[in-house]
Amino acid sequence: MARATGFETGYPAFSKAVMAAMGKVERHRFVPFDEVRYAYENRPLPIGHGQTISQPYIVALMTELAAPKPGDVVLEVGTGSGYQAAVLAELAAEVYTIEIVEAVGKQGAVNLQAAGYRNVHPRIGDGYHGWPEVAPFDSILVTAAAPEVPPALIEQLKPGGRLVIPVGGRWDVQELLVIEKNEDGSTTTKKTIPVRFVPLTRSAPPSGKTR
Ligand code: SAH
Repeated sequence: MARATGFETGYPAFSKAVMAAMGKVERHRFVPFDEVRYAYENRPLPIGHGQTISQPYIVALMTELAAPKPGDVVLEVGTGSGYQAAVLAELAAEVYTIEIVEAVGKQGAVNLQAAGYRNVHPRIGDGYHGWPEVAPFDSILVTAAAPEVPPALIEQLKPGGRLVIPVGGRWDVQELLVIEKNEDGSTTTKKTIPVRFVPLTRSAPPSGKTR
């Protein structure tokens, strides 16, 4: 599979570091009880609330494209089960992860804690705005599809940092993009492969206005 998509992604095989991280994280710890027997199949699985844990191949690919290394500070938007965050936590120093659906985020945090990840910092909120208090990041992964690239995420990248994000409409096949922030603040965008993610949703604007 990695070989088959190598032409599009420029990665004919995953690096040893990514393969080792994928080998270390026990995916069955991140799926609901009913799905445990399917945990090591290469496909997404339901995790409740209409959300899914991504297919392992896509987790490996996004990790490879984000290229986290020791010492890096990484942001993930879309905690879900916590599985992608765990893979990142094997490679980076600190992983900050945001989930918009409270029940999903709480379960993701429980999964991460039970699996022993102390360097993952989960939070409930709208990841469209990133996490300004702990920015900038060496890389940012968005694991839900956005109709456009959220500007705050580009702002919160370090120079030389990478944003890996599926971009496209809810019913479209989306394009997995890698956006690199150059030293001068400009960006270079590379298209990789077509993907299908659940949509990046937005929190309702504050409803304080009364007339
Ligand atoms: N990375 C996850 C897969 C997540 S599926 C894993 O490894 O299991 C995408 C997740 O993004 C869903 O749980 C969804 O609720 C969440 N999400 C959607 N829009 C969001 C937003 N604006 N901010 C944060 N999380 C969001």
